Amino acid sequence: MYLKEIIINGFKSFPEKTIVKINSELTAVVGPNGSGKSNISDSFKWVMGEQSAKILRGSKMEDVIFAGTEKRKPLSYAEVDLIFNNSSKKLPVDYSEVSIKRRLYRNGDSEYLLNNNNVRLKEIRELFMDTGIGIDGYSIIGQGRIEDIISAKSDIRRKVIEEAAGIVKYKARKDESLRKLQKTEENILRINDIISEIEQRIDPLRKQKEDA
Ligand code: ATP
Repeated sequence: MYLKEIIINGFKSFPEKTIVKINSELTAVVGPNGSGKSNISDSFKWVMGEQSAKILRGSKMEDVIFAGTEKRKPLSYAEVDLIFNNSSKKLPVDYSEVSIKRRLYRNGDSEYLLNNNNVRLKEIRELFMDTGIGIDGYSIIGQGRIEDIISAKSDIRRKVIEEAAGIVKYKARKDESLRKLQKTEENILRINDIISEIEQRIDPLRKQKEDA
């Protein structure tokens, strides 16, 4: 599975629909300071569900929408589409090409689309679990992030390694099973309480039956 294209439309410094094709083993984006290189990786993080405007280098989420220049009007929405080649079916869906899109309007309305069908962010997160792709994964390492990972607390570093090792999915399932087990144990306790309560009534009832 690999990222084939990033289609940016109205996001940050991209007022026009821009297709970033990633078709070789190594793709470099070259440009002067402030020309918008990091906006491309921001756009990727944004589609993968980044909720922090600060991480996207803004102060509020609306800042990702093209804000206009002296010569151009601001736009009313931002849209970014990531196209993955999924012929390996590493992403567990039937499509051999997967499109993940996020759209945000100035009024705050937002949507996520998986191959043009509306989905919840949760579904996108689950789809990418253990692929290493995602906002907490190791697939995007921004400026200064290597230092963060090295100097991070051991539990944060552990999370990055676990994602890379592909065990996050199993850990999530284990947590879910433990939660169910806990619930079942509580149910057993409650049933035992009821049983002992009913048992106390057996003798008096038996007596009443015999008397009757
Ligand atoms: P550097 O090499 O310095 O990190 P860069 O090439 O990575 O720079 P970015 O930081 O990605 O550049 O781009 C910043 C540019 O994007 C700035 O010129 C900024 O004005 C522009 N920009 C960011 N948000 C918006 C927006 N909402 N509307 C219009 N332009 C924006």
